[in-house]
Amino acid sequence: MRKTYLIILILSIMSACTNAIDLTATQIPPSIPSTAAVPESTSTPEPESVDPTAIEPAVTSTLASPADDFFTEMGIALPAPTCSALTQTQTEGPYYIPNAPEKHSLLEGGLTGTRLILVGYVLDQNCLPQSNAWLDFWQADANGEYDNVGYRLRGHQFTDSQGRYYLETILPGLYSSRPIEHIHVKLRPEGGAEVTSQLYFPQRPIEGLTVTIEERGDYQIGYFNFVVQK
Ligand code: FE
Repeated sequence: MRKTYLIILILSIMSACTNAIDLTATQIPPSIPSTAAVPESTSTPEPESVDPTAIEPAVTSTLASPADDFFTEMGIALPAPTCSALTQTQTEGPYYIPNAPEKHSLLEGGLTGTRLILVGYVLDQNCLPQSNAWLDFWQADANGEYDNVGYRLRGHQFTDSQGRYYLETILPGLYSSRPIEHIHVKLRPEGGAEVTSQLYFPQRPIEGLTVTIEERGDYQIGYFNFVVQK
């Protein structure tokens, strides 16, 4: 009798375990075939790849400055900027006309005289090049005459990303009330104050405002760095 009871007890325990295993099994969701789990991701086309070489020229052309092209064309190696005192202010004089056109070359038909290419940097008091600085030049022609009606030998420009400017013009002549050659200029660093000054030449120099001239045969390169308070 006791043996029979023991057998029944064992069978009951085994039955309970089997049910527990079955119950556990029913709680596990059937596995989903991998092909059903990711049909969309495998069927969705990949985004079109961007060929980096295809956009390289555009990036390069965006970064290139017209000043680089001009300096290369003219064989000008602009010396690295050096620190100096603030550019002296000078009188505006009676011949300034605002709103001159934006241009890097003041050359035009009918002008005579020696061609001058004026180049340099606009720097702040800490010798940092100032990009997008505004410069406005005006001057007399080779006969010492100003155009007070139009904008001949007048033009403004902005420095490039390296703080450089370049201007094609002619050497100014003398006029009776100013027996010294000069080019007038106004400039203003971005976010800074406007400065009015004049540039002079080695034959009649003014300390701190005289361009350094490089003779090029039938034309000259004039180097001058402006230093302005920012
Ligand atoms: Fe003048």
